[in-house]
This record gives sequence, structure tokens and C-alpha cells, in this order.
Amino acid sequence: MKKEAFSHGDLIEITTFEGIKKGTYMPSSEKFLTLKLESGYNIGISKKKIKSIKLISKYKKPKENLCNVSKKKNLKTITILHTGGTIASEVDYNTGAVTAKFTPEELICMFPELSNIANIESKLIRNMFSEDIRFAHYNILAKEIEKASKNSDGIIITHGTDTIGYTAAALSFILENLNIPVILVGAQRSSDRPSTDAAINLICASQFIAKSNFAEVAVCMHENMSDESCLILPGTRTRKCHSSRRDGFKAINSSPIAQVKTDGTINYINSSFSKTSNLNLKLKLIKENLKIGWIKSHPNMYSKELEVYKSFDGLLIEGTGLGHFPINSTDKETKEHSKMLNTIKALTKKIPVAMSTQAISGRINMNVYSTGRLLQEAGVIGNYSDMQPETAYIKLAWLLSNHKKEVKKLFTENLRGEISKRSLE
Ligand code: GLU
Repeated sequence: MKKEAFSHGDLIEITTFEGIKKGTYMPSSEKFLTLKLESGYNIGISKKKIKSIKLISKYKKPKENLCNVSKKKNLKTITILHTGGTIASEVDYNTGAVTAKFTPEELICMFPELSNIANIESKLIRNMFSEDIRFAHYNILAKEIEKASKNSDGIIITHGTDTIGYTAAALSFILENLNIPVILVGAQRSSDRPSTDAAINLICASQFIAKSNFAEVAVCMHENMSDESCLILPGTRTRKCHSSRRDGFKAINSSPIAQVKTDGTINYINSSFSKTSNLNLKLKLIKENLKIGWIKSHPNMYSKELEVYKSFDGLLIEGTGLGHFPINSTDKETKEHSKMLNTIKALTKKIPVAMSTQAISGRINMNVYSTGRLLQEAGVIGNYSDMQPETAYIKLAWLLSNHKKEVKKLFTENLRGEISKRSLE
């Protein structure tokens, strides 16, 4: 291979024994050269296979801070609280790092359309992957929302997509008497890729805040593969159903609240939401040191898997079907299952053990089969709920933090739109 006469960020053309590849030279490892293709994807090319490299053009550093954010009197104010993820990140070709862009100037530079929709304020809360988010972060965010709500008409939270639904559920419970919209926005594709959904999702969320009287927590993501509209999904019902598609977010056991077009057209799908008001926002935080377990039912279970939860404060079972768990000893192969039932009985004497289902949609009903009835007799709560496990998990933690004496009663009562009386077909 010829000596590298190029630097990070340069556009180069690489000839290997397998063909020619063109892209941006990214910081690379000893053995592999990283190239960002025009599609936005990064590929690693074994340095051994490279025959030659041609420099096409030198990296041009983008001009900084050319974007002016002057306030317009007739526009609402939106505060963007940044927690991390792909949504407001930009690739730095010098270091290869994805950096957060979070000042109002930087956000307007990246998404200029925002300045015509609202006056933008912003604050960097964290710059983290959402898989690392803990209960403590929900409380930090809630306190920031309370502060920002004093001089904003709505809040946008930029968030990694992996656990955006959990945070939406947590904030739905924590923010009691919410009087303005709190919309979580993520992006499945970063803003340096042609297929990015970052701008559209952010624009739709801003349009929704600017033009509606919605005052709940919701998630705003792409509706379909076109770049024309987003869905506003209910905070306690949103699930990431696809790991990478831009329209990978769905409302489970519920319908979206609205479709929002980038031009600001709003088509309401379900209008039974709380409206903007003068209510006094109250924070009902989640205790940060609570230990809530979550166990998924699966074939060949051992009671040891359950025993670890003896030192926990609560346990969510993600059962099968209508709310089942392997507790029936019907032959010599299933002897372990009587132990499982006994362990569940021992657990329910100490902590709340709640049921949810690993079926994607539908309600649990532990009256239909003997397994469900036995589990209820053993003290497992949660019958008839149609909460998705993510929401059930957060609700259990929130109830233990705020309504410890009423966990059993409130777990299956609808508090924030998380449970419906009738199931959708
Ligand atoms: N795992 C990352 C997160 O959820 C992915 C990046 C993204 O989805 O924004 O934060």
C-alpha cells in the first residue's frame, strides 16, 4: 500500500483486490482502514488488501456559529433538553467521534427550519447512550422539566432510541398534573446520513407543540418510510419494534395520538388527552436505589433463577400468553416446577410480584387457565392488565416509591393511559 498522504475527513478512493470504494477517511485501527461511504455507513477495509489510495478532495471544516437565533414575539418557546443518542449528534471527521450539538445556535444550524416554528432554548443534561439510563436520570430529567416549564410552552427531550419508551413511561408517571407537552424525540439514523430521520422527527415534534394544546408525555418518530410525517405516540404505550427502521416505533394496545406533517398539519387519531392548563405540576419521583427485578418466562427454567430476587423490592414476571409461568409439575421432567411455585409463594410474602406478558399485544387474563389461577393464589398481581412489560416495570418502581401501601390495587388501575378497559382488536 502507498504511504497515506491524506488526513481524517478527506474524500478518498481505495482500490483493493476486490474493487474500488469511495468515501471519507475516518480514524482507523492498526489493521483496518475505516471509510464512511456516501450512504453514511462506515466500513472497515483490511489494510493488507489495499492496492492504492487516491485523494479526491481535502476535508473542509464546516464554518461554525453562523446561525443566529433571534427571538420572534409571535412564536412559542420550546426548550430542548438533550440526553444523548443519535438525534442531535454530528460526526467530527478529525476524531471520528460523534459529538452532541446542543446549544440553540448549533441546533438551529443543524435544523434551520426550527427557527420558523418556535423560539428554541436548550440545555445539555447528559450525552449518554440510552441503554445506560437509570432511575436517577428520570428524576434529573423531571426536575429539569419542572424548571424549564416555568418559561416554556413545551419541552422536547432528545433521547437515544433504545430506551426512549421507558423514559416516556417513567416521565408520564413522575410528572403529575403536567400542564404543557413533553415530547421525546429520537433518531434511528444520524444526521450525517442521507437517510437521517433526525430533522423530520424534531420538526414534527416542534410543530405539534407549536400548534396543539396537548399536555402529556409522548414520543414523536417517523410514521413510515417517507419523509413527510411523524406519529405522536402515547408515553406509556410506545415500543421500539424494529432495531433500525425509521418507522420502527409503534403504539402497543393503543392508537397513536396524532399524525403530524412537517408543514404543521395535525391529524388527530385519538383526542382524549389532557390539555394545556394552569395546573400545578407535581413531581412524584422514583426512588433511585430501588431494586426491581424482571424475569422472562422461558422453557427449562430453574427456581434458582427466581431466588436471586429475594433481596429485591419488587419483581415483574414477563410471562407467556395470558400471564403464565412454568409452575406445573405434571411428570418427572417438570419436577422443578413445584419448586418454582414455592419460590414464587415465598417471594410474594416479601415483595410485590406482578405479571405482564411477552406477547407483543393483548391483555393478560389469569382466570382462563389453571396456571393463571394458581399464580393468583400464590399472590401474583396484575390480572387483566394490558400494559406492555416496559411500562409495567416502571409503574411497579413508581408505585413502590410513591404509593407503597396500594401497589396491589393501583397496579391494575389506569393512572396515565397505560391500561385500557377494552382491548383493541
Ligand atoms: N444505543 C443508542 C441509544 O439508544 C443508539 C443511538 C440512538 O438510538 O440514538 O442511545
